[in-house]
Amino acid sequence: MQFQDLKLIDPLLRAVRAEGYDEPTPIQAQAVPHVLAGKDLVGCAQTGTGKTAAFALPILQRLVAANQNRQRGVIRVLVLSPTRELASQIGDSFTAYGRHTGLKNVVIFGGVGQQPQVQAVRRGVDILVATPGRLLDLMNQGVINLNTIEFFVLDEADRMLDMGFIHDVRRVIKVLPKRRQTLLFSATMPQDIQDLANHILIDPVRVEVTPQATTVEKIDQSVFFVAKKDKRALLEHLLDDKAIRRVLVFTRTKHGANKLVQQLDRARIQAEAIHGNKSQTARERALSNFKSGKTRVLVATDIAARGIDVEDVTHVINYDLPNEPESYVHRIGRTARAGASGIAFSFCDIEERKYLRDIEKLIRLRVPLVTEHPYVDTAEESAANGKSSSNGGHPRQQRSRQNESQPGNGNGNGRSRRPRRRRNPRPTE
Ligand code: AMP
Repeated sequence: MQFQDLKLIDPLLRAVRAEGYDEPTPIQAQAVPHVLAGKDLVGCAQTGTGKTAAFALPILQRLVAANQNRQRGVIRVLVLSPTRELASQIGDSFTAYGRHTGLKNVVIFGGVGQQPQVQAVRRGVDILVATPGRLLDLMNQGVINLNTIEFFVLDEADRMLDMGFIHDVRRVIKVLPKRRQTLLFSATMPQDIQDLANHILIDPVRVEVTPQATTVEKIDQSVFFVAKKDKRALLEHLLDDKAIRRVLVFTRTKHGANKLVQQLDRARIQAEAIHGNKSQTARERALSNFKSGKTRVLVATDIAARGIDVEDVTHVINYDLPNEPESYVHRIGRTARAGASGIAFSFCDIEERKYLRDIEKLIRLRVPLVTEHPYVDTAEESAANGKSSSNGGHPRQQRSRQNESQPGNGNGNGRSRRPRRRRNPRPTE
C-alpha cells in the first residue's frame, strides 16, 4: 500500500515524503481511512508503530477540508499525552506533517514556566497537545477553553492510568463538547481503559497492531547489570569484539556523551558524539563519518538520535537506560532498519532498575539478562533476587556468554528469577 492509496491530500503527501516515509505502517493503513470517514477509533498500538501519523494525518486532512468559514485561532483538536516527552514528540509530528497546511499546534506541559505556553495559546492555535495537569491548570485560570474541540485524541491511555492521571483525564473529558470525533490509543487494554473507551467513544472502530513482531522482537536484546563506575570498562570490554562494527551508544546527557567519547579516545576507540550542543556542521560530519565507517562508535543522546537513519547499525548499546520507556523502543529500533535484525545491549545500574521494569512493561517482554561478564554488579543481582550478595560483591570472573543454558544465576542458591540468557524472551507477568 502507498500513502496515495489512503486518499491523503497533496500537502500531506508531500510532508510524508519529506519525512522519508515510503509506505504507511500497518496502524496507519488501518486507521487513516476510518478517521478520515469521521469514525471514533480505539487503537491498540504503542509508540514505535507510527501511531502518531495514524491520527495526525487524517485529523490534519479533516481540519483542512473544514477550514472554510471557521473562526481562526480557536482550539479544534486536543491531544492528551501522559508525559511531556511524548507531548513534545506529538507536537513535532504535527509540525512536520502539517507543514504545508498552515495549521498551528502548541504543546503544553508542567514542570516548566507556564507563561510562554500561555502566550503561545493566546496567539491562536488549531491543535493543542497537552499533559493533563498543566491543561487543567490553564483551564482553571481561564486561559484555555475547550468548547470548540472537534477532535479529541487520548494517547497512551494505559500509561495515563499507570501514572495516576485518569481522574484528571476524566475531568478534561467532562468539559469537551459531546459532538466530536474521539480517538483512543493504548498499548494494552486493561478493563479500566475498556470502560473508559465505552464511556467516551461512540460506536468505535477497533484497530490493533503488534509492534513487537515488527520492531522489538526481531532485535536480539540483553541487559547487563553493572555498577555505574564499571560501565565504561564494560563498554570497552564489549568493543573488543570486532563483530560490533557500527554501534550507536546512548547516554542520557550531552555531558555524558562528551565524556564517554574522550574516554574511548584514550582507549584508542574511534568515537564521536552527536547531541544538541553540537553545531549542525559537527553533527553532520559525525554522522557522515559514522555512515562511511570511519567512526565505529557514535555516542548519542535521544533527541539527537531521532533523526539518525543509518543502515547497517550492527549494535545499539544503552550505556544509560532511558527513563522514558518509548525511548528504548526508538533507540533499539536503530539497529533493525529496513527489515534487518540487530543486537541491543543495555547497561543497567541499581538506580536504573525501575526504568528496566517500565521498559519491560511497555514492550511486554522480559529482556534477557547476561549473567556472565567481568563486571557483574553482584549487589544488584542479589537485589534482583531478593538475596544478599554471596561473594562479597567482587566482580565475577568472565565466562563465555554462550554458556547460557546452565541453571542458576551464580548466587549460590540454585534459584533464579531471571534467566542466564534466554534466547526466546518470554512475556512479562
Ligand atoms: P510513533 O509510533 O508515531 O512514535 O512513530 C515511530 C517512528 O516511526 C517515528 O520516528 C516516525 O517518524 C516513524 N514513522 C512513522 N510513520 C512512518 C512510516 N510510514 N514510515 C517510516 N517511518 C515512520
